[in-house]
Amino acid sequence: MTEFVDVVIVGAGISGISAAWHLQDRSPDKSYLILERRENLGGTWDLFKYPGIRSDSDMYTLGFRFKPWSSEQAIVDGPSILNYLKEAAAENGIDKHMRFGHTVRTANWSDVDNQWELTVDRGGESVQINCGFLIACSGYYNYDQGYSPEFAGSQDFEGTIVHPQHWPEDLDHQGKKVVVIGSGATAVTLIPALIDSGAAHVTMLQRSPTYIAPQPDKDAFAARMNRMLPTNAAYTVTRWKAIARSTFYYQLARRFPNFFRKQLRTFAERRLPEGFDIDKHFNPSYKPWDQRLCVAPNGDLFRAIRKGKADVVTDTIERFTKTGIKLTSGQELDADIIVTATGLNMQLFGGAEIQRNGEAMPLTDMMAFKGMMLTGLPNMAFTVGYTNASWTLKADLVSEFVCRVLNYMDDNGFDRVEPQHPGDAVEERPIMDFSPGYVLRALDQLPKGGHVTPWRLKQNYLLDLQLIRRGKVDDEALLFTKHRAPVAASI
Ligand SMILES: Cc1cc2nc3c(=O)[nH]c(=O)nc-3n(C[C@H](O)[C@H](O)[C@H](O)COP(=O)(O)OP(=O)(O)OC[C@H]3O[C@@H](n4cnc5c(N)ncnc54)[C@H](O)[C@@H]3O)c2cc1C
Repeated sequence: MTEFVDVVIVGAGISGISAAWHLQDRSPDKSYLILERRENLGGTWDLFKYPGIRSDSDMYTLGFRFKPWSSEQAIVDGPSILNYLKEAAAENGIDKHMRFGHTVRTANWSDVDNQWELTVDRGGESVQINCGFLIACSGYYNYDQGYSPEFAGSQDFEGTIVHPQHWPEDLDHQGKKVVVIGSGATAVTLIPALIDSGAAHVTMLQRSPTYIAPQPDKDAFAARMNRMLPTNAAYTVTRWKAIARSTFYYQLARRFPNFFRKQLRTFAERRLPEGFDIDKHFNPSYKPWDQRLCVAPNGDLFRAIRKGKADVVTDTIERFTKTGIKLTSGQELDADIIVTATGLNMQLFGGAEIQRNGEAMPLTDMMAFKGMMLTGLPNMAFTVGYTNASWTLKADLVSEFVCRVLNYMDDNGFDRVEPQHPGDAVEERPIMDFSPGYVLRALDQLPKGGHVTPWRLKQNYLLDLQLIRRGKVDDEALLFTKHRAPVAASI
């Protein structure tokens, strides 16, 4: 028998837990389910198992507004984040609404029945679950396959090749020589962690450099606030300090890129051994924050290089050989293990096909309203967090707005809300004003943004507070209508 719930949330990661908490708090009459394809909650923080997995973000902003992070340890490892998410779900009874092992394959909006019809794979069996409103909290990348370009000769390599997204838990790197291909957050995290846990030597092999900022992993301000104030007050103050700090540094980087670049260069110079070629290995050609800036907690990567346990090679790969990698310059790198930290495959809605009245809806024809609802798709919202600040800040804003929309519809007798495409009045822009490889590779499959609000995504929490938290619900771009109420089957 087909089930019906008021709201289905797809995904039990940070965004799904945020959506559920806000629904319970602000729209408590709504019934809801969280459908999760994995057997555990946590999403990203449950999936990635490579050594040292951690966030770049501080926990005062990666944490939820409703659950204080009361430690002075600001940057923490993946298992601690997962534990925090499990606590958040359990303390609020959200875990009881989760259905694990449920993969949403298609989501079809029916105009006749005014509802979403989800075809869900449950351990090989196909079931249908219908809902009045759909919140896609399914992350931004393909869970099945990380991005791994073809490397010539990879079949000749006699050691182990591993992608960080698929790290074998039994992989032994004790005493081994490791080459990590890549220079993003994953490579920057992995290298010191591999060394600390017994690798003989690690080489970071990059085609081009990335900006890396050393940052303390503890927050002395948080420790002081925790001593002086009750937990909630201390968290609020520390959270706002963290928001102000990251906004300030981001704005500084964008407005004064040369100054910021020089600062980062100086930080690196102070920590690296004399004679190290900083301009070749740590001074990118693009401006700070054109791509994500990576954090090295307490300068751990620089320390590993200074100790001679790690080095950086900036070159291109000609081919893999039996014993390692041959570079275009002619240099050869010996390796027992090659880690392809080459990134993610971007994917929206966890690969589910989105339909309206049984017809597939191409995402590229759609425009995103406030970066969270799509033209052509009624009663639907999705969460994609910030690229320059903690994901959770945006997730909480989206969740709040969805509750305001649901409550507004109930109060005014509407049962459908649909963003209206502004047509030629608004110039199309890429949905993300950000240029790392995984975004560039996916841009031609993503919905569009526009040149003005509410279609323009500003990647700025303070502006979004105005636009999303305080922005009116009955926006001109949203069409609210009344249709037949969906027929509720049993649950
Ligand atoms: C290595 C790494 C480090 C990161 N570091 C940071 C950081 O420092 N700061 C930061 O803000 N962000 C960071 N991020 C981004 C990170 O993804 C977010 O922090 C956040 O975890 C995203 O939460 P989410 O719930 O939106 O998505 P996810 O964590 O990706 O969770 C999505 C969930 O949806 C489920 N799902 C997907 N498709 C379907 C489907 N069709 N049916 C059912 N279930 C489905 C998935 O199984 C998953 O559990 C990092 C990401 C990675 C990969």
